[in-house]
Amino acid sequence: MRNVVIIGSGPAGYTAAIYAARANLNPLLIEGLQIGGQLSITTDVENFPGFPEGIMGPELMEAMKKQAARFGTDFLPTLVTKVDFSERPFHLYTDDEEIETKSVIICSGASARLIGLEAEKKLIGYGVSTCATCDGYFFRGKEIIVVGGGDSALEEATFLTKFANKVAVVHRRDKLRASKIMQDKAFKNPKIDFVWDTVVEDIYDVEAKNVRGVKLRNVKNNEVTDFRTDGVFVAIGHEPNTQIFQGQIDMDANGYIISREGTKTNVPGVFAAGDVQDHVYRQAISAAGSGCMAAIDAERFLEHSEP
Ligand code: NAP
Repeated sequence: MRNVVIIGSGPAGYTAAIYAARANLNPLLIEGLQIGGQLSITTDVENFPGFPEGIMGPELMEAMKKQAARFGTDFLPTLVTKVDFSERPFHLYTDDEEIETKSVIICSGASARLIGLEAEKKLIGYGVSTCATCDGYFFRGKEIIVVGGGDSALEEATFLTKFANKVAVVHRRDKLRASKIMQDKAFKNPKIDFVWDTVVEDIYDVEAKNVRGVKLRNVKNNEVTDFRTDGVFVAIGHEPNTQIFQGQIDMDANGYIISREGTKTNVPGVFAAGDVQDHVYRQAISAAGSGCMAAIDAERFLEHSEP
């Protein structure tokens, strides 16, 4: 029987583990398939306090993991496939085992959203990507498009100009959602062009298992054009990883867990931290902060729920 199981290995999960471990709760952290979470697939992190010169995402996550391990966190590099929060102790299931625990901290984060095209699914890994850091290297000297108009899209586009000859940002409106500083950087980059008021309707060529171009539609005049490209980077936001909690935990209309009074969910003893319950701030530092809060909330819950 565990005191606390933490689901997820991003900044929220590792910070919750550091605090829970230092409170002698000997937490178990179930890491999921993408160990280190979203930061494990980024490059420079320049806004995490304490690193005046910036730090690489994977390096930061490795350091957080080491810090959690140092105080006695146990790790399980697998996915939680099912949960039962109907009574205490709670039950968590992985492919191989069933785990009983007095409390749970959900830090399962969010995953990249896709446009929803058949061709997109079939060509992922064959020229379609949701991670410039992971796949940019394969596009040296090529021409690519980035879909989206937020900070992620511009960050990816800017990063991709290290490899690609040309990057076209395809955005469905004529105004970017991205922050002013990211916009200025992208507008100044001679390798970046913008295709406004436009959506991607198809990606060629599924048969050849290779990206050769896209079908674009201008949403204002409905004009459809073919656009030659060697790669498609989709950067249109994220979906919370909450499928396994559906029906057991209160969520909003978009599937984000509703947390209240700090990190409490509607189930006493189950807490949520990080992007899985935050569609507003979504920063590594805010996720880490809420992971700390969740561990303190869990510790207090355990103190009061035990004789
Ligand atoms: P986001 O801010 O939600 O932007 C998503 C973009 O994709 C929007 O421009 C949206 O268009 C577009 N979009 C959404 N669904 C679409 C669809 N089905 N087809 C075409 N376009 C679609 O997401 P994000 O850029 O991933 O950023 C998420 C959060 O992380 C933000 O708070 C951001 O500031 C932060 N972030 C910060 C940094 C940084 O500071 N270095 C880097 C990355 C992200 P509309 O504009 O028309 O809605």
